[in-house]
Amino acid sequence: MKCPECAKPMTPARENYSYTASGLPYVTLVGVEVRRCKACGEHEVVIPKIEHLHRAIALAVIGKRARLTAAEVRYLRKYLGWSGADFARHMGVTPESVSRWENDREQMSAVADRLLRLMVATKAPVSDYSLDLLAELGDDSSPVRLRVEVEKGGWHAEAVAA
Ligand SMILES: [Zn+2]
Repeated sequence: MKCPECAKPMTPARENYSYTASGLPYVTLVGVEVRRCKACGEHEVVIPKIEHLHRAIALAVIGKRARLTAAEVRYLRKYLGWSGADFARHMGVTPESVSRWENDREQMSAVADRLLRLMVATKAPVSDYSLDLLAELGDDSSPVRLRVEVEKGGWHAEAVAA
């Protein structure tokens, strides 16, 4: 295949790819095809079943113990398919509050954090999301680090230590 920037040939290879396009800083897609252009440095990543990938990441994020970070709040809001104004209406807050959460100027309350997790869990019903988790959440806010891999035809996300 040809480079979309300079039309030179691109070389495909399997790589562990940092999925920064998600808006999350520590999500690694394991062994995905990345096509690189040696001439201009352009690259393309091939991501199969992207909706399934986004669901796997969302479920891993709501399964973490630490409070949601600003980037994770934004990711989950987009996963739910909502604008900032939509999200504000669903949460019963002002759009300014949503903006402060997503720009790391104000931490979500513990109650709002739990409500967002539950809205994500409700969108994609999963039998393995236990409400017991909500009793075990900490007060610190640190980003989740994920390794996300295709297994048995579907994406599987696993949290890893920093
Ligand atoms: Zn190129």
